[in-house]
Amino acid sequence: MPRLKRPIARPVFSGPERRYVISLRKVADQVLTLVRGFDVTDPGVVPRLRNVLEKYALALEPWAEATAARMLAEVNQKDRQSWQVLTAQMSRQLRNEIDQAPTGQTLRSLLAEQVQLIKSLPLEAAQRIQDLTVERLSDSRRSSELVAEIMRTGEVTRNRANTIARTETSRAASVLTQARAQHIGSEGYIWRTAEDSDVRPSHRRMNGRFVRWDQPPKLDNLTGHAGALPNCRCYPEPVIPET
Ligand SMILES: [Zn+2]
Repeated sequence: MPRLKRPIARPVFSGPERRYVISLRKVADQVLTLVRGFDVTDPGVVPRLRNVLEKYALALEPWAEATAARMLAEVNQKDRQSWQVLTAQMSRQLRNEIDQAPTGQTLRSLLAEQVQLIKSLPLEAAQRIQDLTVERLSDSRRSSELVAEIMRTGEVTRNRANTIARTETSRAASVLTQARAQHIGSEGYIWRTAEDSDVRPSHRRMNGRFVRWDQPPKLDNLTGHAGALPNCRCYPEPVIPET
């Protein structure tokens, strides 16, 4: 059975991913700016700060949609290019089928998920501050420590923004590859890793293995396909039916 070799490597900071990381970091920076605008040594300011962060999440929606749509368009373009290389040696019929794969619904779902994830950045920051404040009120001895933890919210949000951007760019690519592969009758793929020292052992063990699309493996207690797990840089190399 022929396999789709991905001609475009997926280094950690490929173009779309790097741009998505930069965009989402801006949200984290804005969260930090908003938190810094309040004197968090006074627990009384927390409800107002929470309100400001929730309003920011809401106002963010159109920007989140445009930013995520751009990332998805770029990733989709790369996936199409990968398929064009493969289908160049295949029948016209299969080429047409790939072109007509119903990726619209896949892209719409991915977009809605991205908007929620981007909005979750200020919302999770608000929740984190709220939780720390409750903790602080019940245990006065740790007050200064908890204030420092509240101030660390910007950094925590930034790390979360990085993880979302990396994970989601790769996951979008993986999901789109799957949609096109399954459309032409592919039952599974070969798991490929980035083949460097950063690949975690559980993913390294998957390298070169055949995985069915309908049976995503469970690795380190998370279920998902190559490239669709948190911070995963692996990718699926579809196995497609002989024509
Ligand atoms: Zn991986």
